[in-house]
Amino acid sequence: MTKYVYLFKEGNASMRNLLGGKGANLAEMTSLGLPVPQGFTISTEACTRYYTDGKKISEDIIEQIYAALEQTEKEVGKKFGDLNDPWLVSVRSGARASMPGMMDTILNLGLNDVAVQGLANLTQNERFAYDAYRRFIQMFSDVVMEIPKPLFEKVLDEEKEAKGAKFDTDLNAEDLKRIVGRYKEIYRQNKGEDFPQDPKVQLLEAIKAVFRSWDNPRAIYYRRMNDIPSDWGTAVNVQSMVFGNMGETSGTGVAFTRNPSTGEKALFGEYLINAQGEDVVAGIRTPQKIATLEQVMPEVYRQFVGIAEKLENHYRDMQDMEYTIERGKLYMLQTRNGKRTAAAAIKIAVDLVNEGMITTDEAVLKVEPKQLDSLLHPQFDAVALKKAKPVAEGLAASPGAACGMVYFTAEEATAAAKSGKKVVLVRLETSPEDIEGMNHAQGVLTARGGMTSHAAVVARGMGTCCVAGCGALRVDEETKTATIGSLVIHEGDWMSLDGSTGKVYAEQIPTVEATVSGDFATLMGWADAARKLNVRTNADNPRDTEQAVKFGAEGIGLCRTEHMFFEGERIAAMREMILSDNEDQRRVALAKILPYQKGDFKAMYKALEGRPMTVRYLDPPLHEFLPSKSMTAEIDAIAKELGVPSEKIIATIDELHEFNPMMGFRGCRLAVRYPEIAEMQTRAVIEAAIEVKQEEGFDVHPEIMIPLVGDKKELAYVKQVVVDTMNTVMEEKGVKLEVKIGTMIEIPRAALTADEIAQEAEFFSFGTNDLTQMTFGFSRDDAGKFLGAYYDKKIYESDPFARLDQDGVGKLVKMAAKLGRETRPDIKLGICGEHGGDPSSVMFCHKVGLNYVSCSPFRVPIARLAAAHAAILEKQGNL
Ligand code: PEP
Ligand code: MG
Repeated sequence: MTKYVYLFKEGNASMRNLLGGKGANLAEMTSLGLPVPQGFTISTEACTRYYTDGKKISEDIIEQIYAALEQTEKEVGKKFGDLNDPWLVSVRSGARASMPGMMDTILNLGLNDVAVQGLANLTQNERFAYDAYRRFIQMFSDVVMEIPKPLFEKVLDEEKEAKGAKFDTDLNAEDLKRIVGRYKEIYRQNKGEDFPQDPKVQLLEAIKAVFRSWDNPRAIYYRRMNDIPSDWGTAVNVQSMVFGNMGETSGTGVAFTRNPSTGEKALFGEYLINAQGEDVVAGIRTPQKIATLEQVMPEVYRQFVGIAEKLENHYRDMQDMEYTIERGKLYMLQTRNGKRTAAAAIKIAVDLVNEGMITTDEAVLKVEPKQLDSLLHPQFDAVALKKAKPVAEGLAASPGAACGMVYFTAEEATAAAKSGKKVVLVRLETSPEDIEGMNHAQGVLTARGGMTSHAAVVARGMGTCCVAGCGALRVDEETKTATIGSLVIHEGDWMSLDGSTGKVYAEQIPTVEATVSGDFATLMGWADAARKLNVRTNADNPRDTEQAVKFGAEGIGLCRTEHMFFEGERIAAMREMILSDNEDQRRVALAKILPYQKGDFKAMYKALEGRPMTVRYLDPPLHEFLPSKSMTAEIDAIAKELGVPSEKIIATIDELHEFNPMMGFRGCRLAVRYPEIAEMQTRAVIEAAIEVKQEEGFDVHPEIMIPLVGDKKELAYVKQVVVDTMNTVMEEKGVKLEVKIGTMIEIPRAALTADEIAQEAEFFSFGTNDLTQMTFGFSRDDAGKFLGAYYDKKIYESDPFARLDQDGVGKLVKMAAKLGRETRPDIKLGICGEHGGDPSSVMFCHKVGLNYVSCSPFRVPIARLAAAHAAILEKQGNL
């Protein structure tokens, strides 16, 4: 028979998967001989069974719960419902990974009409007993039975008012008895039955509520944000109550062995005398600093300091502890590795190595890659943020904090920024033409679009804060207003965006610059020593390139050349090319583009100082370079600039219209139809490389990447154009360069025929943005409309454009990598889709043996750390 229930004394810290973090640590503390109120843990497997059994606790599990209950009763020498010394318990959830705030704790379970008398007898304090009972009825009704809490609060308020009482403590035993009566009445009205008097019934209902809470929307959301699989389930801990509210020699508190905000090594925490845990959280009374406990209860304080030290040494990590003092006796209710800010995480990891407590590999594992985000971007002033009120929420698309005045077009945002204002760009959605405005903005807010929408990708690339897909936002560019519900926002109004939470504030919140301390560099050095994957960046201008190199990028894995064509004169030359009637005209236009392209490449090669650069050839559908048909003023302006009739532009827009542009005339198809584009780009790549080598002495190794290939012959054709041009240019210049030519694998057919494609390609770079959209068959720009429903219905646990779908898309990656290597053993394999900066996806890339990942500059440190985690976990046999 499977064992589902474990007494604390039967478990240990290594049983975390089964007992959850809290349960495993209670067991471990018990085995260390610490004063832990005894109890038992119902395993995570019981939770999984609860769901597979149709949301029921099966008989065999109930039996095990009752058996554990009896054993614990014996051990503590108390009985449920006893008239002299009733046993009371707390019931808490505890998953494998800590999920703060998932479910409220239930305290004082076991109280009923008899036990309350028992508690009064035991403590000689009737007021205390009835206060505990009314708290329990309210908590049980709210958390377990989902009866609205305000119904109870109203009664309490009425009673206080009737007595002229200011605080709960002004109510006496008789008042509380009356309140208990009224609470039970509310219960009966709402549930159609009496408040359960049998503690066993109370317990089973509470356990079910914990299991149910695993699937509440809060928990599902939290899991998605933190990559926690839904099949882990939660454990339930049933623990004997101890009371911190039994007078002046009792109390309760929380403490950390080091400061969780700064990492400073000093006991940090607070406590309240004569209080239960919820009073500390409720914030009605101000808790005391832990150090003052030394004066109040010196003996208890000394004991606590000793325990804290013992626990930190035992777990070799900063501990977050909950404790209660009951009539002068200290009890430990919980310990766990404490949550901490990124800055604290780094300091603590480095300090623990210096103190000889852990190895450098262990230190690297102690910092979550995603956490680094907050160190790399400006942040809101924490105090001011707490006071601010969000008015809407969108996707946390690019982290950081932005505060500025609202502008609704890229031009106006740019102009305002140039005049010295801080601006927030608010758009329905962004397009490549908005780049300059985005670049000048502190942050970008869009009403539409998902995590890989233009706004999200570009903002992440720039390290600009972005909140995307804010559904409540309506933008009216014409009247220069936006609305969120009844709130109207005008141009020039202040707005603040939190790119780490997706929250939008219609007010000014001050920001502070992020600081990257010396410990950061130390830890990243250890990470670099451990990792196997190389980390490159996606960048298409010198500024981003320099930023990425500062963050440790080892080259460029994706330079999207089309991003170089959207500004000023360049877009005019591009449009001239698009409007050409024949090859000759096109070549004239391309000759105008060449110097820009070459100049950009030179600047990028210089910023890279000899590091490799993968240049991805023109990829987007050409209509992206033209305005939409309704933009008549724009069309007329272009017509004037290029000296062509407006009708011709409109005709070209019509001609380029596609029903499904992402699957249309784009990628290498452009070069197949207009090889002269690839010729121009090749000339720019090679001439720039030769000139930088001659001017700066950098040995430049360009890698030319042909996008959206689905067939070997397609690649062979474009490759021939590239090779011929390359040879011509090298001959002209009299310089030979080593150049690699490869392709992106972003169409399922390319993955399926990767063995053939590798005959032509010297490297593969997995374009998992397109590969995801083409494998799933839905567009990355539109998926935001329905993904929410998929999360709610538990069809998907996460956004496949943010976190690689390892089972489906990942299978294609794995297969293509294998096929590619079979044909060409030294083929270089990388990834340049957005997943290249997502920790779990980076770990997957390590597992399937890619050579490098490439991601936006601000995610480079995250990818470095994630790559190190993968290598270390593999070494430990834990990957
Ligand atoms: C991709 O498809 O993953 C990719 C990197 O290319 P883009 O996002 O430019 O289509
Ligand atoms: Mg692509």
